[in-house]
Amino acid sequence: MTANTNFLAHLNSSQRRSVEHYCGALLVVAGAGSGKTRALTYRIANLIRTHHVDPAHILAVTFTNKAAKEMRSRIELLFAQQQAELKFGKPWGALDDYQQTQLRSHVYKTIIKDLWIGTFHGLFSKVLRFDIEKYQDEKGRTWNKNFSIFDDSDCQGLVKQIVVKQLDLDDKKFEPRAVRYAISTAKNQGLSPDEYSKQQNDYRGRVISDVYKHYQDALCANNALDFDDLLLVPVQLFRQNAQVLDYWHRKFRHILVDEYQDTNRTQYDLIQLLVTNGVDSKTFNNWEHRSIFVVGDADQSIYSFRAADFTILMNFQDDFGDSMPDDRTETMVKLEENYRSRENILAAANHLIQHNTQRIDKILKATRGEGEPIFLYKADNEIDEAEFVVSQIRKLLRENPELNYGNFAALYRTNAQSRPIEDAFVRSQIPYTIVGGLKFYDRREIKDIVAYLRAIANPNDTVSLLRVINTPRRGVGQTTIDNLQNAAQQLGVPLWEILNDETSVKTVAGRSSKGVLNFAEIINKWRSESETRPVVDIVTGIVEDTGYVHELQTQGTDEALERIQNVQELVNATIQFQEESDEPSLEAYLASAALSSDLDNLQEGKEAVSLMTLHASKGLEFPIVFLVGLEAGLFPSFRSLNDPMAVEEERRLCYVGITRAQEMLYLSHARERRLYGSREPAIRSQFIGELPPELLNSNLRTKIKAQTPDRTSPKDPKTVGKTNAQTTGWRVGDRVIHRSFGVGQISHVFGTGNKQSIAIKFPNLGQKIVDPKIAGLQKI
Ligand code: ATP
Ligand code: MG
Repeated sequence: MTANTNFLAHLNSSQRRSVEHYCGALLVVAGAGSGKTRALTYRIANLIRTHHVDPAHILAVTFTNKAAKEMRSRIELLFAQQQAELKFGKPWGALDDYQQTQLRSHVYKTIIKDLWIGTFHGLFSKVLRFDIEKYQDEKGRTWNKNFSIFDDSDCQGLVKQIVVKQLDLDDKKFEPRAVRYAISTAKNQGLSPDEYSKQQNDYRGRVISDVYKHYQDALCANNALDFDDLLLVPVQLFRQNAQVLDYWHRKFRHILVDEYQDTNRTQYDLIQLLVTNGVDSKTFNNWEHRSIFVVGDADQSIYSFRAADFTILMNFQDDFGDSMPDDRTETMVKLEENYRSRENILAAANHLIQHNTQRIDKILKATRGEGEPIFLYKADNEIDEAEFVVSQIRKLLRENPELNYGNFAALYRTNAQSRPIEDAFVRSQIPYTIVGGLKFYDRREIKDIVAYLRAIANPNDTVSLLRVINTPRRGVGQTTIDNLQNAAQQLGVPLWEILNDETSVKTVAGRSSKGVLNFAEIINKWRSESETRPVVDIVTGIVEDTGYVHELQTQGTDEALERIQNVQELVNATIQFQEESDEPSLEAYLASAALSSDLDNLQEGKEAVSLMTLHASKGLEFPIVFLVGLEAGLFPSFRSLNDPMAVEEERRLCYVGITRAQEMLYLSHARERRLYGSREPAIRSQFIGELPPELLNSNLRTKIKAQTPDRTSPKDPKTVGKTNAQTTGWRVGDRVIHRSFGVGQISHVFGTGNKQSIAIKFPNLGQKIVDPKIAGLQKI
């Protein structure tokens, strides 16, 4: 058998057709798990190997950087495997590690490094590194190729500086995040500051257009671009400069785009310009040694809130099809076999998506046998739901030695839902990673509120004080902060002593003293309240008194909404803590929060359960998937409930979630869920009712309870806490074993009974303070 046939043997006939297709435009449309990404990957390899295309002529667009990395590695392996026979006369599997590495590195140097594979933003920032000097904005200004890319917080800082310093406006009225959002929208509509300004007829609009002008001036003065520019500037550059476009049109002879259903207008413009060299798609006919290959599934279009538009995919054939030479009439391939999921899972997905009106039906056949039914679990509440996930993971790992933590994923609709699951995982020592986002306690708003709590518990914690002294903004600028810190340093006292003394504050902070005093008052108030009130009251009190959530509400962006949800989830976390601890104190809560983020760090690099939002799961697959929180108002989301089209997008999201599962799928919903601090009854999602009942097994409840002694296992914090408090007296000098950090020696014991925390010195990790109730400590 030649290497050639080997190569394509991993594909079915439709995939092979799409891979072997050479010149012209080709669209591959197919449902989830049908091998679209595989076809795209193999096509790249085939272009190089069979058609001898120089890798430097290939441009492949993926949806995430991770997907790009995987694609490169896959192609590298394909070529390395192929060369094994040629170079060593042995199949790949018979080579030793050194030989395999040697081959891969050879393939990397000769092929992979020349391929342009990446996200739209990554690839076009690279284009700009070459050619930005030829670009002029509408005012004739230029950038040089060392330009910086300003991320979201850089841009927001810039807007804030303009609002406050340059225009002398109130940044409470012109909230930097909201203004930045308006600018970004204007940019993406292709409006220059002047054009935008002409459209404004109220005061706010005129101010924003003024900020926009200054913002562009500042970007230019800093030789910087923002994220929007990374796509918009190349479009403008290509339109301005025919030579530049011609260069890139000649370079990228073969363009491939994955997840094409989620491209937006600007991204489409980039592709269209590169393919046709600026000619109208319908009249373009110079397809010699040139192709555009896109793969997608309109049923998986889930980014309309970022202006993605699946009609771009629907129009593909119309766009490019007419111009094809007669002998290359095939412009669409459909893939109809699913290689990912068991039949039951696939049947459920197919059934669900048929409830959408806006779609074209397609065939998707299972190839992997029926599999288990889909498990449906009705949880008491979100804590029970999280414990259910834990118990199932444990059970499956016990029963199937070939499985490891990396084979599991839990998917949810909103980021805030990760919290109860993370908590349950930390307690049960299940390693996990959050894909495409931050762990709960690493999120900015959570760190802010926790910094308040720390400062309240311990005002000498200057780091926490500094984090929130001007968060939310209360007019305390960096100079004031520097002055306050200098004063403290000179007196040799902690910063708090200065902040807590009205006279000193007035002396040092001058005009900003009002803000500083207000801050100190909040800390003091809750410091005394904390003696008698539960943690949850302190959290809600801080949120109220500081206006933290209020400020987020005025921003009104999706991101702000997510932050609010996270703050609400922190309220839920403290309520849960209160219910589960015998003597819930602020200190004990802070210890448990610190410990949960500390444990996180130790688990990196190991096999871990993946947690992520449904949006982040696109394109991925896992043997076992938990889809949690299937409740009305949560999924489909509250905001979609009155809009049938929005519910259709939610349903597509559910389709994406279900089709991530290879072997087993668990769906769950809770009878009640804690929202905004209070327990609300929850109604199960309409999506569950849209699945064929015969595919669902909902008899899990009793089985699970019977099988898993979780609630009473020694790892349950309540039980552990009791055991420790009653039977274990911790003493300085005791040698102990900690379940994550290993063996250490107690150096301090703080407090007594349930308020106790313990400092332990570990040989390699240094000293750590842990809550013995949660840490699972044993004397040795
Ligand atoms: P999604 O719509 O979720 O992005 P997809 O259509 O891109 O899915 P892939 O991820 O390419 O699907 O493939 C799904 C799974 O099926 C992968 O594990 C892949 O390796 C496997 N697969 C694809 N094609 C074949 C084939 N011809 N034979 C065997 N397995 C295949
Ligand atoms: Mg894919």
